[in-house]
Amino acid sequence: MILEKKNRDTDKKRDVFSIFLIFLTSSLIIGFSDLLISILFIPRFPAFSFSFMFKPLSITVLLFFFLQVILFMITVFPFVYFFKIKFINFALLLSSFFVFFFIIGSVADLFGISFTPERMFKISIVFVFSIIFSVVLSISVKNISRKEEHKRWITSSALSLPFIFAEVLLFFRLVIYGIIPFFTSKFFLISFLFIFLFIFTLWIFNFVLNVKTKSVIVILFWLAVVFSQFFSPSFLSESGLKLEKIITEKEDSPKYIFLVTIDSLRTDSVSCYNSNGELTPNISEFARKAVVFENAFSLSSWTTPSLASLMTGFSPSTHTVTKDNARLPGELPTIAGEIKKIGYYTCAFGINPNLTKRTNISKGFLYYDFYPKYAVERAIGSKLLKHFYKFYIAENVFDLAPENVVLDWGTLINTKKLTDLSIQWVKENKSKHKRFFLWIHYLDPHVPYAPPTEYIKGEKVISTIGFNFDKAIEVLSGAFVPSKKEKKWMKTLYDGEIRYVDDNIGRLFTALKKMDIYKDSLIILTSDHGEEFWDHGRYYHGHSMYNEVLSVPLIIKSPLEGKPKRVEPPVSLNNIMPTILEYCHIPLDAKEFYADSLLPLLHSHTVNNYTPQPVVCSGVLYGEKRKALFFDWYKYILSENSQKEELFDLNTDPSEQNLLNKRMPDRLQKAREILEKHLRVSNKIKKLFKITKEKKSDRDKKKSDRLNKLEALGYL
Ligand SMILES: [Zn+2]
Repeated sequence: MILEKKNRDTDKKRDVFSIFLIFLTSSLIIGFSDLLISILFIPRFPAFSFSFMFKPLSITVLLFFFLQVILFMITVFPFVYFFKIKFINFALLLSSFFVFFFIIGSVADLFGISFTPERMFKISIVFVFSIIFSVVLSISVKNISRKEEHKRWITSSALSLPFIFAEVLLFFRLVIYGIIPFFTSKFFLISFLFIFLFIFTLWIFNFVLNVKTKSVIVILFWLAVVFSQFFSPSFLSESGLKLEKIITEKEDSPKYIFLVTIDSLRTDSVSCYNSNGELTPNISEFARKAVVFENAFSLSSWTTPSLASLMTGFSPSTHTVTKDNARLPGELPTIAGEIKKIGYYTCAFGINPNLTKRTNISKGFLYYDFYPKYAVERAIGSKLLKHFYKFYIAENVFDLAPENVVLDWGTLINTKKLTDLSIQWVKENKSKHKRFFLWIHYLDPHVPYAPPTEYIKGEKVISTIGFNFDKAIEVLSGAFVPSKKEKKWMKTLYDGEIRYVDDNIGRLFTALKKMDIYKDSLIILTSDHGEEFWDHGRYYHGHSMYNEVLSVPLIIKSPLEGKPKRVEPPVSLNNIMPTILEYCHIPLDAKEFYADSLLPLLHSHTVNNYTPQPVVCSGVLYGEKRKALFFDWYKYILSENSQKEELFDLNTDPSEQNLLNKRMPDRLQKAREILEKHLRVSNKIKKLFKITKEKKSDRDKKKSDRLNKLEALGYL
C-alpha cells in the first residue's frame, strides 16, 4: 500500500518534470524557428550577429513558455476529467499546437503588433488547422508510444531539435550568407560537416545521454538563451525613451515640423533652381509658395557629417563626425533633443546605412525607423522588443554583415514604401501628438541608380549598364571607365531617380493637405550634398569640395504668414538648427557660437541687414583630406596633404573654373586666416561641450564592406 503510494508520487513528480521539459523544449523550438524563418524570408539581407539575435530569441522563448504554462493551468482540468486525457498527453497536445500554429503563422508573417481584420481572419484559419493537427498528432503519438523504443526516439528527437536549429543558424551564417561561396569544394565540405553534426546531435540524444542528463542539458540551454539577453547592458540604457514633461509651450510655435532631406540631390537638378529643369514639378510647386535659398551649402561632401551638421548646427570640425565609424558626441544639443524637451514628439523615417542608430544622429528621436535593418527584425521577438523599446532598431548592417558579402539592401525598402510609411505615421499620430517633428530621409537619387523604368525618359538603354547602375566605387577607383554614352546613360538614370523622388514628395504633400495639416506646418526641404558628373573631371561624391557637391537646394515653407521669395545671400545647413529652435522659442546655450537663425530672412521684406557668415566644410570620405571655405562670395579649397590651394570668385565664376590664387594673394591670405580662426573657435566649442576626442561607434572594429572593397581596389 505504502509502496504503491510512493510509486504514484514519483510517477506524478516525473510527470510534472516531463511537462515542464515539454514546455521548455517547445518554446525553444518556437524561438529558433522564428529566427530561422525571419532570416530565410529576407535572404538578400545577410546581416546578423549572434549576440543581437539572442534578444528576440529570449523574448520569444520566455513568452511562449509562460503562455503554455498559463494556458495549461487554465485548461488542464476539463481535459483531464471530462476527456480523460493524461496530464502529460495534454501538455504534448498543447505544445504541438503552439509549435504548429507558430511556425505556419510565422511563415505567413501573421504576427505583428497591430491586427487588421484580414490578418485576424488568416490567424483564425491557422488556429483551427493547428488544433486539428495537434489532435491528430497526439493520437498517433499515443499509439506509437505503446512501443517503448518509438516513444524514446520521439522524445529524444524533440529534445534535440533546439540544438539542431542552433546548428542550422550557424550553417546559415557560414554558407547561405556567402562567407563560403556555393558549389565550391569548401561549400561541400562544410555541408558534409554539418550533416554529420546534425546526425551526431541526434545520436547523442538518442543513444548516449540518459533521461536525466538530457533534461539537464535542455534546461541549461534554455537558461543560457534566456539570460544571454541581460548580458548586453547598452540595450536598456538608452536614454530618452519617454516623451519628456512639457516645460513650456508657446502657442505660435509650429504645430508640425517636417524636415525632408534627399540624398545626393544636385541643386541644378531641382527645377526652381534651373530654368531648363523639368525634373521636379512637385518640388517647384512647393517652392512657389515658400522661400527659396539660392545659395545654400552643405558642410560636407557626404551624408553623415553633413546631416550631423544639420542636426547640431555645427561644422564637422566641431562635431567630429567625419569618418565612416564616427559617432555624434552625446554632449552636443540636437534639433530633436531640444524640441522634444518642450513637448514635440520626434520621429524619423529614412534609408541610408550611414544614418542608422550607431551614428547617434538618432539622438533625441523618440521613434527612429531607419533602413536597412537586420534580417531578424521580422521575428516576433524583434517586433515585441521594438514595440516596447522604440530604439531597438537597426544599427550599422555593414558592421554586422559577414565580410566579403555584398549587401543588396537597396531593394528592401524603396522611396515609395518610405513615403507610405511616413504618410501612415502622420495619419495615425496627428491627433495623438499635439506637436511633432518628422524627419524623412530619401536615399534616392544616391547610387545605385535604379529608378522604376517609367521615370526614365528620352534615352535608349545602354546594355553595358542596364537599368541599375551601382559601380560608383569602381568609377571612383578607375576600375570602370565609362564611355561618353555610358556617362550620359548614368545621368539619365540619376535624373529618373529624381523624378521618382519628386513624385513621392508630391504624394506626401498632397496627403498632408488632405489631412489639413500642411498649412500649419513648417516644412524644410534640402539635400545632404550633390553629385559630381565630371564637372571637374571626376564622378560621385565624398571626395571633392566643388559646388556640384557642396551646393544644396534649400526651400522653407513657414507656417506663419510670409511672402514667397528667393533669398540670395549664402547660407548653410548649419543655419537650420537655430532656425527651428527660434521658431519654437527655445533659447540656445552658447548662442554666439552658432550660425544665425534664418527667421529674419524668411519673414522680413528685405535681406539687406543680413550679414552672411563664413562657412567651413570638411570631412572627406575618400582620398585626400580637404577643407572648403565660403566667404564674401569667394570660395577657397585646401587639399591638406599636398597643401594645394584653390580660390574662386563665385560671383563671376559660379562653376569654379578660373583659379584666382595668383591674382588675389590678399584674398588667399584672408581665407587662410578665417580657416585658422574657425579651427580655434571649433576647439573652444569642443571644450565648452566637453568633447574630448572623436567618438567611434560601438561596432567600429570591423571594416565596412564598402571600405574593404575600396581597399581591394587599391583606392585607399
Ligand atoms: Zn548622402
